[in-house]
Amino acid sequence: MIQSLLIANRGEIACRITRTARRLGIRTVAIYSDADRHALHVREADAAVHIGPPAARASYLVGEKIIAAAKETGAEAIHPGYGFLSENAAFAQSVIDAGLIWVGPNPASITAMGLKDAAKKLMDAAGVPTTPGYLGEDQAPERLKAEADAIGYPVLIKAVAGGGGKGMRRVNDAADFADMLQSCKREAAASFGDDRVLIEKYILSPRHIEVQVFGDTHGNVVHLFERDCSLQRRHQKVIEEAPAPGMDAETRAAVCGAAVKAAEAVDYVGAGTIEFIADASEGLRADRIWFMEMNTRLQVEHPVTEEITGQDLVEWQLRVASGEPLPKRQDDLAISGWAMEARLYAEDPAHEFLPSTGRLEHFDLGRRIRIDTGVEEGDRVTPFYDPMIAKLIASGDTREEAIDTFLGALDEVEVWPVKTNAAFLARCAADADFRAGRVDTGFIPSRIDALVPSSEPGDGVWAMAATAMLASDFGRAAAPGDPWRALQGFRANDAAETGVALRQGGETRVVDTDDAELAGVATAQGDAMLVFAEGQAFAFTLPGAGGAGAGGAGSDGTLLSPMPGRIIAVDARQGDSVKKGQKLVTLEAMKMEHSLVAPFDGVVAAIDAAEGAQVTEGAMLVKIEKGEGA
Ligand code: ADP
Repeated sequence: MIQSLLIANRGEIACRITRTARRLGIRTVAIYSDADRHALHVREADAAVHIGPPAARASYLVGEKIIAAAKETGAEAIHPGYGFLSENAAFAQSVIDAGLIWVGPNPASITAMGLKDAAKKLMDAAGVPTTPGYLGEDQAPERLKAEADAIGYPVLIKAVAGGGGKGMRRVNDAADFADMLQSCKREAAASFGDDRVLIEKYILSPRHIEVQVFGDTHGNVVHLFERDCSLQRRHQKVIEEAPAPGMDAETRAAVCGAAVKAAEAVDYVGAGTIEFIADASEGLRADRIWFMEMNTRLQVEHPVTEEITGQDLVEWQLRVASGEPLPKRQDDLAISGWAMEARLYAEDPAHEFLPSTGRLEHFDLGRRIRIDTGVEEGDRVTPFYDPMIAKLIASGDTREEAIDTFLGALDEVEVWPVKTNAAFLARCAADADFRAGRVDTGFIPSRIDALVPSSEPGDGVWAMAATAMLASDFGRAAAPGDPWRALQGFRANDAAETGVALRQGGETRVVDTDDAELAGVATAQGDAMLVFAEGQAFAFTLPGAGGAGAGGAGSDGTLLSPMPGRIIAVDARQGDSVKKGQKLVTLEAMKMEHSLVAPFDGVVAAIDAAEGAQVTEGAMLVKIEKGEGA
């Protein structure tokens, strides 16, 4: 068995590999860029080597540095994880040439499966069914067009060197073919340095079915059944599950058998995945599933296979790389139960799924289910790498049970202030068609508006924030200029004595907590009361105390009017030195007084407030600058 292992990756997969290596008594070496100096994968490893600046092409993609790091630390083997250099045959060869063990297939297998057209030809020859289409021997645009016409529209133009969902164009109509071809070739040249394309019949109601295969150096190949990865957004997987809903024994035998044949055709060693596309317009049928491509590495979604087979695939990889035979024979492997995986991304679904970065001030994914993560509370999500921060893996005896567990776990996701797609994932899993197993790759695009959660809190969340404010002594801590007093003052004026004025995301509301239905969980964080509900996070402040107005630690010193109102007192003048928490302006609005206090010690640089004046929400009232004299 390998004694020491360099993990040429970062994030959750590096942590995942470390976990198994440690259990097997293998010493682990991490690599890190400047951006990952303090990352979890570095903290968890036995040793770590710095390999360069944040940009992947200057660090995680520089093979020589990684091999040098292995030599320097005495690591015997290199595990590439997924992404980065994992499917780079030249890198695999240099690892071997350096006298190290490559935890992966032979470089020749990677090359054979690397280009989509060559792989399809190889599979045709091995008797594995492939998607009907043209493999592009002749790349003349007229010829490609003629082939597309012959296949019949819609067709899919695919870059032969493509990957990660890039370099694909669906063409519905012959008239659009020439333009689509051009734009596909342009993207392929820019992304992969190779503008050759192939053409496939566009499968309607397509389902993405893939089979986990494993080979060893003794000539054994087995499969570990299928996964369904049909829930995709922009050709990127979002939720994966195993087994595939609606898969009958005959179809499973056909597709898994084809996968083993495909692996054998390239003398496959290690973990690999054969991806198929199924025409599911009439359910899954053995004669409507075609080879799409092979991924010659461990797959992101491998945990669902681990859950239903009870195997540790990273352990299998390390044993195979050490020269041992596969831990199990085909007959010893069986499916037990159901598993689902969601990819938790640091992104904001409400804003075009833009990546969300920053420090994870609060990060708690609960403890109910398996979580493979690369971050902990206090870590930073940087803009340099893939925004996937964790995988949530739920299992159960049945699909129903797995979905329920999954929804329960997503509901408990607490991440702040970095935004995540947890609520989006929950909406996908709660959908009636999903529950019924009616999934195909059009599932997300066809209902995207319903799946994207509102970025505004519901009434129950407002009520939870108000109730939590009343129950805590959190407002009291902000004295002087005590916002808590504002709260109580309001209560004294209100017949029910249970109303609370709160501010969230630019909106201020008076919330009556009597008989209110509460949603979510609340926790105080700095100036704010955070409410976590259904995978989302909302930060509430008291109108005079927090938010853009009096700001917390993050304030830039600009005090804005938190709501429309009338200024009733001004207690500072330009040039005054002020102390943190000192009351500067008092506003009367919504039947109560709000104190605007200095967010830090400093000097009043500007003040635009006169007693008796009416102000609008967001009006700049005071600007404090950090400085001398305070
Ligand atoms: P990549 O290598 O970029 O991931 P794939 O060839 O694996 O590209 O295809 C990615 C996704 O595109 C598939 O999961 C499927 O959703 C869709 N797709 C691929 N081929 C077809 C096809 N012939 N018809 C319909 N959809 C397809």
